[in-house]
Amino acid sequence: MRLPDELLSSLAPVKGFDGSAFLQVHASGQQVTSVRLNTLKINEVSEVPSFGRDVREAIPWCDKGYCLDTRPSFTFDPLFHAGCYYVQEASSMFLEQAMKQTADLSASLKVLDLCAAPGGKSTHIQSLISKDSLLVSNEVIRSRAQVLKDNIIKWGAGNVLVTHNDPKDFSGLESYFDVIVADAPCSGSGLFRRDPEAIHEWSLNNVTLCSRRQQRILADIWSSLKNDGVLIYSTCSYSKEEDEDIVSWLAHEFAAEVIPLAIPPEWGIIASGGGYRFWPDKVRGEGFFLACLRKKNGEKTSVIKLKNKARQPDKKEAAIVDKWMLCAGKYFTRHQDQIYAWPEPLAADFHFLQENLKLMYSGIFIGELVRDKLVPSHALALSTVLQPAIERVELDHENAILYLQRKELKTSLTGRGWKLVCYKGHPLGWINALGNRVNNYYPKELRILKDRVQ
Ligand code: SAM
Repeated sequence: MRLPDELLSSLAPVKGFDGSAFLQVHASGQQVTSVRLNTLKINEVSEVPSFGRDVREAIPWCDKGYCLDTRPSFTFDPLFHAGCYYVQEASSMFLEQAMKQTADLSASLKVLDLCAAPGGKSTHIQSLISKDSLLVSNEVIRSRAQVLKDNIIKWGAGNVLVTHNDPKDFSGLESYFDVIVADAPCSGSGLFRRDPEAIHEWSLNNVTLCSRRQQRILADIWSSLKNDGVLIYSTCSYSKEEDEDIVSWLAHEFAAEVIPLAIPPEWGIIASGGGYRFWPDKVRGEGFFLACLRKKNGEKTSVIKLKNKARQPDKKEAAIVDKWMLCAGKYFTRHQDQIYAWPEPLAADFHFLQENLKLMYSGIFIGELVRDKLVPSHALALSTVLQPAIERVELDHENAILYLQRKELKTSLTGRGWKLVCYKGHPLGWINALGNRVNNYYPKELRILKDRVQ
């Protein structure tokens, strides 16, 4: 791997840069595989058989993050498809410290994850915030927003809205958010070890373009942050122009206050220019930069008037939905025949955001009402609101993979009707048994296309 000379010389004055160690760690070909558990579904890393035994090391800055010594085939792990964990770069999980140390996570917060696809940080934020908090998970590129939506559905929580807006669209939501996470698009040098092809796209000119774009993005969303609200800014670039220089620009341009974080020295993270640097020769992770800033010159409260226009289902609809899900604390909306459940205390906010943003998904899609019956959605199967009385079918590994490939199962089923297909007790999706055949309702677009490579 040959790193650009211009990159190396530009990094020479940057705090924590150790040229020979940096070159060596890039030449080593070493890859770190790391995962973060979904505490809505599992709590112990030992519950995931594909991780093997004795091969995991806890990531110090993330309670449920682990490095794996070998990379299992995630595609052929049904628990990956059940949303029990997310495969995420280890340094990025430092977001947890930023959130815990700068915000009151027991409070009811409104959080925006501005550049959210494919969803690593959004799923992490969802695990950290209280159930009375809401997360707007936004991605400007529509195709990427679709992947984000799939990952949010797989995670299973009901307090997230997925939007696909340009950052400037948030300027209308004055002083609305308590926390904004901006994991900005960048020149990507921090991921060269993983993706050596990206080296060819790197140039000093691109660093300058990225840094200007980062300024534009931050300027666009600044008004939607509350006074005393927190901005968490991060990149996977090593370049000072995209990291420390952006922090000082923010502090100067918007009178933002840098928030220092308490970090044990043994973590190997380097404090630099108001932010924190992750050098791959000092941490078990890739290149990353993160800084936290507090807004000091905004409005105290949002001027937005919230109208609570959500409607509960009528009695007949309620009785249908009640058979499928735990309805307590939920508000329901109908979009044509499709029923969505929102958290009741957040219904007015969900309505407000639906009116003001390009919504792709909100709460939990329960299913479609067809002739007084509910056709349950895949999102309901993966959610945490399923009615426990629903009939479940536990599959072994072979059949779970056949199910995820939308192939015929090699198992006999008794009885008719909708059944929840599970692996190790975790729902994967629906089947409908019709007596002489079984319809597989795993979404076609999510199915495993590969045959197993042994
Ligand atoms: N936060 C994500 C995660 O943890 O999975 C990774 C985000 S990635 C570093 C940056 C994202 O910003 C990409 O999904 C990209 O499509 C999006 N993006 C690109 N241009 C943008 C722009 N002008 N404004 C906002 N987001 C943009």
